[in-house]
Amino acid sequence: MSIALNLDHSSAVRPVAAGRPSLIGLSKPLLAEALVSHEVVSEKEGRMRASQLWNWLYVNGVTDFERMTNVAKPVRQKLAETFNLDRPEIVTEQVSVDGTRKWLFRFRDPQNPNMPPVEVETVYIPESDRGTLCVSSQVGCTLTCSFCHTGTQKLVRNLTAGEILGQILMARERLGDFPGGARPDDGGLVPGGETRAITNIVMMGMGEPLYNYDNVKAALLIASAGDGMSISKRRITLSTSGVVPYIEPTGREIDVMLAISLHAVRDDLRDVLVPINKKWPLKELLAACRNYPGLSNARRITFEYVMLDGINDSDAEARELVRLLAGIPAKINLIPFNPWPGANYGTSPSSRIERFADIVNKAGYASPVRTPRGRDIFAACGQLKSESERLSKKDRDALAAV
Ligand code: SAH
Ligand code: SF4
Repeated sequence: MSIALNLDHSSAVRPVAAGRPSLIGLSKPLLAEALVSHEVVSEKEGRMRASQLWNWLYVNGVTDFERMTNVAKPVRQKLAETFNLDRPEIVTEQVSVDGTRKWLFRFRDPQNPNMPPVEVETVYIPESDRGTLCVSSQVGCTLTCSFCHTGTQKLVRNLTAGEILGQILMARERLGDFPGGARPDDGGLVPGGETRAITNIVMMGMGEPLYNYDNVKAALLIASAGDGMSISKRRITLSTSGVVPYIEPTGREIDVMLAISLHAVRDDLRDVLVPINKKWPLKELLAACRNYPGLSNARRITFEYVMLDGINDSDAEARELVRLLAGIPAKINLIPFNPWPGANYGTSPSSRIERFADIVNKAGYASPVRTPRGRDIFAACGQLKSESERLSKKDRDALAAV
């Protein structure tokens, strides 16, 4: 049984300031540029004010310019007239019996207040040694992996860098991770020895992060900046279904940990399960993995493998998996299939998963079986979906013109 929290919406919902652009999601140089180009500060002051704002936004989690006490009052006023710092609205917040939390966040387009808002799901998974936030990169997904619930929802749109960060900022606020913040009633289940509830980020929510590369890159570079949110790049993992041309740039430019949704060891099966395989088949995908910048035994690639009953879970496939990955510093993450209404697959029995894991372990790979978390609130891998509808181009143009 899960608990659906009754939120006091007066504090959770912040009305969007129509027409005022957001400052969340701009790199520090772009932040300085925005302040200067909107004539909030002089060119001379740009960098200094940008550094002050950066600290307020990402270290202190402030959402109100008035609280930026080291910024001169007239500048604070101009900032408030020109920009917004809005975070997403919380539509629902659910807490699982196992402490997993799932939020449905709603974003409005501040530049086009007439556009219908979009909604995405974000999940927090507390464990004994870490607290992981599972972040979405798109509303829906263009890809159609046949075992994934998100894949049944058409892509509505890419999230902006600010919206990707907005999920992290809002989760931090709800979990009391900012200085002076209040923890939720259950304590937010802060992992042992940590001061923050959120220690790790995984780009494993809704969407394919490498089909929204520029925004994901901007957001992750801000999340990992040492003078800001300061989440170590070794604690950020980006999961891709295999968008090969963006794998090398991910390592070179973002430098985070990589996870690959492999799920099959033969092209004919992977074409069905992960259809992007038709574009970039296994051979090309694994070559890109071998060349991932910074790859070493200390920085392995995680290969995700969903266990589908009678589809991809035989001993022969476990052995083939080991053969395919030879020479790549790798971890193998076996994920029991999480069912959703209308899915055409079943979960492999646990004895089958154990046998598969055994073969992979004996070949020298760590292969933890991912315990499904938050199943009661439908928060496990591949179960995320929102009701946001894709609008026709005609409708979108009509709304934007109002
Ligand atoms: N789009 C990216 C990241 C999001 S999905 C990707 O595909 O990698 C995160 C992981 O959950 C992926 O490995 C995905 O294949 C897996 N997944 C999707 N649906 C699932 C389901 N129903 N049960 C278990 N895992 C699932
Ligand atoms: Fe999209 Fe990933 Fe789901 Fe495939 S598994 S449909 S890439 S979200």
